[in-house]
Amino acid sequence: MSALRKALFLDRDGVIIDYIPYLGKPEQVQLPRGAGPALIQWQKAGYLLIVITNQAGIGRGYFDHGDVAAVHDKIQREYGKEGVKFTDFFLCPHHPEEGCDCRKPAPEMLLRAAEQYQISLQESYFIGDAPSDVGAAIAAGCQPVVLLTGRGQETCQKLDKFAAQLAEPIPVFANLGETVSLLASPSSE
Ligand SMILES: [Mg+2]
Ligand SMILES: [Zn+2]
Repeated sequence: MSALRKALFLDRDGVIIDYIPYLGKPEQVQLPRGAGPALIQWQKAGYLLIVITNQAGIGRGYFDHGDVAAVHDKIQREYGKEGVKFTDFFLCPHHPEEGCDCRKPAPEMLLRAAEQYQISLQESYFIGDAPSDVGAAIAAGCQPVVLLTGRGQETCQKLDKFAAQLAEPIPVFANLGETVSLLASPSSE
């Protein structure tokens, strides 16, 4: 066994909460059906749960860091009721045109999380609903997974462009609940 840990990296909007563009208020937070029990399974299998999110609404002036912190508190509280504990939230607050190095599809937030928590990226997954999630996962060297929730339907039309970078097709699931099937496959060992 490696001394490094495994992580389940998770996009926020359209993955761990229902997708609302530029969601900035705690009362807008809704957990997708089945998401809590699914994350419990991942947690029990030894994966750290780490959220990796672009929040350009801050850079655009739609809401501020305090609003996002309140949303993340609400997410932690709601999932906490189900026994799910997120290890950390990494966020890029920048406007897309700021040219920062953290905005997905850059791998920066994943690399930072891996360093901070001693994570093996090769043994980790990144579940997202957008092409930028897939791009970040590939650039960081972890396994991309796509959900059909949020922007996922549209994203699935665009997966071809990533095919050349991967030996296997990208796993696609209807929702977070279905991703627990990855825990039963030999590649997760
Ligand atoms: Mg998303
Ligand atoms: Zn950034």
